[in-house]
Amino acid sequence: KARMDDRSSYCFYSETIGQEVQARYELEQALVHAIDRLEFELHFQPRIDSQSNRVNGVEALLRWKNPKLGWIIPDSFIPVAEHSGMISSIGDWVLKKACLHLKQLRELGYDDIQMGLNISPQQFMSDNFVSRVQLIVLELGLPPSSLEFEVTESTLMRDMDTAVKVMTELTQFGIDFTIDDFGTGYSSLSHLKKLPYKRIKIDHSFTREIGQSQNAREIILSVIEMSKRLDLAIVAEGVEEQEHSEFLTANGCHELQGFLFSPALPFDELCEYLEQRA
Ligand code: C2E
Ligand code: MG
Ligand code: MG
Ligand code: MG
Repeated sequence: KARMDDRSSYCFYSETIGQEVQARYELEQALVHAIDRLEFELHFQPRIDSQSNRVNGVEALLRWKNPKLGWIIPDSFIPVAEHSGMISSIGDWVLKKACLHLKQLRELGYDDIQMGLNISPQQFMSDNFVSRVQLIVLELGLPPSSLEFEVTESTLMRDMDTAVKVMTELTQFGIDFTIDDFGTGYSSLSHLKKLPYKRIKIDHSFTREIGQSQNAREIILSVIEMSKRLDLAIVAEGVEEQEHSEFLTANGCHELQGFLFSPALPFDELCEYLEQRA
């Protein structure tokens, strides 16, 4: 009897794994053609100055619509793209596209808006990343300071020597760095101190808890305090409620991003949003 149960649970187990492998494979196959078939799009989420209420920047967020699979969220396909090594070429597409949109924004007169990009670990560590970035930026005649790269702690901790090198070179070129999802990774503060970055982004898992958790509030206050001492700017993501915005602004958080202000928008809608706020 015990053996039967073992077997049936074993079968059930392997079938689920089989389905997962199959689903992952289908996603990977669809992803191979996504760039050529123009299935990617960038949306843009505004980053708001908590004092002036101005839009200081926008974060480019990748969207994928596949004719068979429908809309697929980044948290589902980015890991697959990373695992299969496709993230670097996808990342290059994002970089090029975001720069083109940044140029458009500047031509429309929004020349002090920064464009934020999420850079995956593999893209960040890849050969010639620095020169590929420089080439596009120079080709389009953009001021490097109008770009901001978001990297996570785990990206940086993967290979500190390369991280220091890449970040230093791009910072000297003029690009700003932000540590994304701050507080969720396993970085050591002594390591982070060696790196040149301007801004820390408080993860939405803390922001979301502002109303309910004394603990989350204390963590946010200490991160803000630390940033002040280290002369870093601080931005909170996942600001959904007025209460979050008030708490963060009252306690010196410089910038806010979240559904309270706007979700990520297609480029046309971003332009309308900017026009309305102007
Ligand atoms: P992230 O960089 O931390 O981006 C923030 C995520 O929070 C975005 O999800 C955004 O749409 C969502 N968000 C914004 N405001 C709110 C809010 O008020 N409440 C809540 N609950 N969520 C909010 P999205 O667009 O699904 O992206 C998820 C993650 O995928 C990003 O996290 C980033 O790590 C990755 N990603 C997105 N685009 C790219 C890309 O072009 N390249 C790379 N390498 N990664 C990307
Ligand atoms: Mg980000
Ligand atoms: Mg984040
Ligand atoms: Mg995130």
